[in-house]
Amino acid sequence: MLSAGWRALADELALWRDAGDPVEFWWRDDDAAGPAPALARLLALSANASVPLALAVVPLGADPGLLAGLAGQVSVLQHGTDHRNRAHAGEKKTEFSGAEAPRAAAARLAAAREQLEAQAGDRFISVLAPPWNRLPPPLVPHLAAAGFRGLSRYGARSSAEPARGLREVNAHVDVIGWRAGRGFAGEDASLAVAVKHLAAKRTGAADPREATGWLTHHAVHDEAAWTFLERLFETTRKIPGVRWRGARDLFYIS
Ligand SMILES: [Zn+2]
Repeated sequence: MLSAGWRALADELALWRDAGDPVEFWWRDDDAAGPAPALARLLALSANASVPLALAVVPLGADPGLLAGLAGQVSVLQHGTDHRNRAHAGEKKTEFSGAEAPRAAAARLAAAREQLEAQAGDRFISVLAPPWNRLPPPLVPHLAAAGFRGLSRYGARSSAEPARGLREVNAHVDVIGWRAGRGFAGEDASLAVAVKHLAAKRTGAADPREATGWLTHHAVHDEAAWTFLERLFETTRKIPGVRWRGARDLFYIS
């Protein structure tokens, strides 16, 4: 017996199939810092389900053992520089305060990028996933000069190219309920958010070419979150027309 959430997803995917349009998903996981049982479980999940994983790593907090231990379909994205909250009064949590000069923030980002790229090697793709998904708009035009080709925030993008030379592909479905004890947000709630983005793309309310991104945080997953992800991958991979895209493909389209 399917719950309401799974039924709604199946119905939405059927509409895409009837229209002859492929459904594109991708998977981003934030806050990787070092080897840990939860990270090992995450990597095993990606390998077992054959779903590519975009791992957003905090450069200045990254244990070299983390990057040496990666295998399979795993790309490394840059999750800020040190993930420290620099919000000024009146700002929401952010590593990049509007009070910091954009050139100074870009220089910090470029230095951290070089360090992470040297450690991650071929797995690295020059995509910035800012902590808390926040970046002051004046910083965005500086990212390409700081060596970035991509930007990944949260929610339907307003532009595929927010600045010259920079492609944006966001995450849209956060499976953690941050305000409800930081556990799993729940099956029906998570699936409803995914269906909402798919429907927005199908009806033209959101960019139909932006892959729908699932956002996870392995360090805080409870058992219900792991079970949900296993079921999500298993279920969607069997559905014709659904593709799980790798981050390199999404961001490095010429
Ligand atoms: Zn984070």
